[in-house]
Amino acid sequence: INYQSTTFLTSAPDIRALPADEGIEVAFAGRSNAGKSSALNTLTRQNSLARTSKTPGRTQLINTFSLDNARRLIDLPGYGFAKVPLTVKEKWQKSLAEYLMKRSSLKGLVVLMDIRHPLKDLDQDLIHWAVESKLSVLILLTKADKLGPGARKKIVLDVREASLAFMGDIQVQAFSSLSKLGLPELEQTLDQWFGA
Ligand code: GDP
Repeated sequence: INYQSTTFLTSAPDIRALPADEGIEVAFAGRSNAGKSSALNTLTRQNSLARTSKTPGRTQLINTFSLDNARRLIDLPGYGFAKVPLTVKEKWQKSLAEYLMKRSSLKGLVVLMDIRHPLKDLDQDLIHWAVESKLSVLILLTKADKLGPGARKKIVLDVREASLAFMGDIQVQAFSSLSKLGLPELEQTLDQWFGA
C-alpha cells in the first residue's frame, strides 16, 4: 500500500459518527504524548496529517483517514491526561471498548507507547479489550532513538515476554519517527492487516 496517498476523511465527535462500517480499518491509540501523531505523519510522509498539538481536557475528535475507498486509518484520541475528570475518562473508556468490540471493519489496533514507559495501566486495558475482540495488536515502542541499541533491544524483548500474558495476536516493535527505525516493519504489518 502506498501510505503517502493517505488523505483526511472526517473528524468524528464520537464512535457513532464514524464513516460506514465497511471495508477494512486499522486504529492507532496511545497515551497522550506517546508519539502517535508523529508516527502517523511518518507513515504517510506528511508533516501535518495528524495534528501534534492538543489541549489536555478538551474534547478530542476521532480523526479518520482514507488510504483508498476500502481502507481507513483511525486516529483515536490520546488517553491518560491527569486533568481529565473521571466521568469523562469513564465515558471515553466505555465508548472505546464498544468501538473495539462492535466495529466489524476494524482489523487491527496499533498501540503506541513511549519505549521508556511501556505498558501503563490504560495501555494494558486497551490491549485486553482488543484481544477479547479478536483484533490483531501491534505494540509500537516509540521514540526508540532515545535509547541505545542494547537498552532498546532489552525493552523490546521484555515487552514481548510481558505481552504473552494477554494470550492474543500481539507483535512488538521499536519505532522512531525521528530515525524511521521500525517504519518498514510497521508498513509490513499494516499491509498484512489490510490484505494488500
Ligand atoms: P501524540 O500526543 O501521541 O500525538 O504525540 P506527538 O506525536 O505529538 O509527540 C509527542 C512529543 O514527542 C513531541 O514533542 C514529539 O516531537 C516527540 N516525539 C514523537 N516521536 C518521536 C520520536 O520518534 N523521537 C523523539 N526523540 N521524539 C519524538
